[in-house]
Amino acid sequence: MTSIAIYTDLDGTLLDHHDYSHAPADPLLQRLEAQGIPVIFCTSKTRAELLRLRQELNNRHPFIAENGAAVFIPDGYLPVRPADVVTGGGFWVKAFVPGRSHWLALLRQVPNRFAGRFRPFHDMTVDQLADLTGLSPEEALLAAKREYGEPVQWLGSDADREDFVEALERLGARVLRGGRFLHVSGDCDKGRAMHWLNQQLGAGGSAPITIALGDSQNDAAMLEAADHAVLVRSPSHPFPRLRRTERVLETSAPGPRGWAEGVASVVTHIDKTRG
Ligand SMILES: [Mg+2]
Repeated sequence: MTSIAIYTDLDGTLLDHHDYSHAPADPLLQRLEAQGIPVIFCTSKTRAELLRLRQELNNRHPFIAENGAAVFIPDGYLPVRPADVVTGGGFWVKAFVPGRSHWLALLRQVPNRFAGRFRPFHDMTVDQLADLTGLSPEEALLAAKREYGEPVQWLGSDADREDFVEALERLGARVLRGGRFLHVSGDCDKGRAMHWLNQQLGAGGSAPITIALGDSQNDAAMLEAADHAVLVRSPSHPFPRLRRTERVLETSAPGPRGWAEGVASVVTHIDKTRG
């Protein structure tokens, strides 16, 4: 029987939009672990942030960090080490983009007229980061440990910001416009990272059936690529827009309650259809 793997966004999806609680999903998370269905975090967060969260949630599975920039598989998790990974910190790491130093160097190459109008994470103190993000200093420190890109605070006008983004794109970057920051990295997304990891999980047999869950447009690539897409309701913005219409479920509850509702419904459906 083909197995199942769950790929999930965190903020606003498994974690509550306001208080970051996962409590409403805890009973189901325990059941999934007992059934051998891995829950794989796929998020904009850093490896450092995810290591802490995995510990808190007792999760021992691979994860995807920094919006699909890299996949981390615990060393020995699979019978065979994938061909194109490096080993580091107890993980097999598959990176889809160059490392942070590449992006910092690229930020130093933008035209002079942008000087003083942007500030990379790299140039901020922990207290400045905590102020800007609303995180505690400890959390801000983990969030600042980017390995595959650089968040940048834009200090100039909106019109100049678009010129700045274009300048970065001409230099070979891809820029995601977040709520507070511009995220400068390379060509990667959650969907491609999920696809690669799922192929590794299926190596030597058939790849698991994928269920992806997300609440935002930056989850779209992952939601499009999965066998089953669960759109988790957000209290702050509409569902992400998808091209697909088959095997798409929109939850009625938001955040972790919606997460549990969606996962339970899709897993039951899969169990029924495969007998
Ligand atoms: Mg989210």
